[in-house]
Amino acid sequence: MRYVSTRGEAPSVGFTDAVLGGLAPDGGLYVPEIWPTFTREEIAAFAGRPYAEVAAKVLGAFAGDEIPAAELRAMCDEAYATFSHAAVVPLVQIGPEQFIAELFHGPSLAFKDVAMQILARLYDHILGRQGRQQTILCATSGDTGGAAVEAFRGAKNVRVVAMFPEGRISEVQRRFMTTAEEKNIACVAVKGTFDDCQAILKDAFQDKALRQAVDLAAVNSINFARIAAQSVYYFTTAAALGAPGREVNFVVPSGNFGDAFAGYVALRMGLPVKRIVVATNSNDILARTFSTGRYARGAVLATLSPAMDIQSASNFERLYFETVQREPTETARAFEAFARAGAIDIPPGALAAMQSVFTGVAIGEDETVRTIVSTLNETGELIDPHTAVAVAALRHVDLDGPTVVLSTAHPAKFPEDVAKASGVTPALPRGTASLADRPERFDRLPGDAETIKAYVRAFAEA
Ligand SMILES: *Cc1c(COP(=O)(O)O)cnc(C)c1O
Repeated sequence: MRYVSTRGEAPSVGFTDAVLGGLAPDGGLYVPEIWPTFTREEIAAFAGRPYAEVAAKVLGAFAGDEIPAAELRAMCDEAYATFSHAAVVPLVQIGPEQFIAELFHGPSLAFKDVAMQILARLYDHILGRQGRQQTILCATSGDTGGAAVEAFRGAKNVRVVAMFPEGRISEVQRRFMTTAEEKNIACVAVKGTFDDCQAILKDAFQDKALRQAVDLAAVNSINFARIAAQSVYYFTTAAALGAPGREVNFVVPSGNFGDAFAGYVALRMGLPVKRIVVATNSNDILARTFSTGRYARGAVLATLSPAMDIQSASNFERLYFETVQREPTETARAFEAFARAGAIDIPPGALAAMQSVFTGVAIGEDETVRTIVSTLNETGELIDPHTAVAVAALRHVDLDGPTVVLSTAHPAKFPEDVAKASGVTPALPRGTASLADRPERFDRLPGDAETIKAYVRAFAEA
């Protein structure tokens, strides 16, 4: 399987290079040259199978012959054994034909674990084979850092430096990063905002000398392996609900559009996905785009669902590429224009193709709070604010047939906001309860790129 850039100016690469490379050298995103597909019989056979088995089949279709099937299966077994629920991604019914898929049973209690756990094993495997060591630099507004630290701690060929804005993430989120004891992990509390951390990250990646000296890598959701890993739960949940005999709808709390795009990938691979509802908070760029056809940045507002406080959705470029019939010149033109002007108009044919699958719904803060309360009252389920945005969106759309809401974080990850809304303080699940007692280890640094780059170099070379 070869991977091509959405902008068409970079050579095609194999799966392992697409995984390690992240962004293509022409600024585009990698997508497979052709979408692998499963037959109806193969999809039907996924029903009730172990999650790791389905994951190995789906990821195997993307890896082709670059990773031996038995090794991939062993990596999937190990990755999903870290989840505290035997189903890995269990379904909970919340109404007639309405289900929640709980994606938060991984080690850091957020859906990012689902992809990060397998990504870490792929990295260590590929780097080990190449006799190479990399340093992952990551800027987090909360969940990505914890998922990356949990996934990569103890990895032989990877070091991780996780930067977070001091005082601006929840204590639970911070402790998932700072209580790791392994020496390949370093955490940095940066004096400044998340935007400052991102600017430092960008500076570090543009520093060729540093990049080469420490073999710098990134694990954000532009990495295609993360998308591929996220398409797996679309297959397992739809198969459990009767696909391919029945079409299934999904409602997805969205920020960078990685998770919702993974549903589109599953559709292209043959899964009968009927509609994907893209649920956003007041940072509604995606919701506006699917209704108006104009993709335009707005000001970023702080909300109760901070992992979705994003006003330009990196993975949207992949959908654009697909819906303009994979025309790379047009995709490059559009996203260069977006980078310059902050807004583009979607061509009518592409918009119609998007609207045939996606509906966007934006949900405000009051409705998010009310939905946490009503869901608890009506079903007994305590949901986190990100999931609440999606449950609220479900009530704004008319959908036929089975519908799955993706639940992206455990309520205990946002205990204060959930307690304030519902009056119930969510408890940390078994296994993470000791988080509050474990010693923390992190360095405090000024929000200055040169200082942080020197820190990264010293850590990588130690
Ligand atoms: C990252 C995240 C999201 C958004 O997912 P995207 O793939 O960026 O759209 C939603 N909810 C939670 C809890 C997250 O951590």
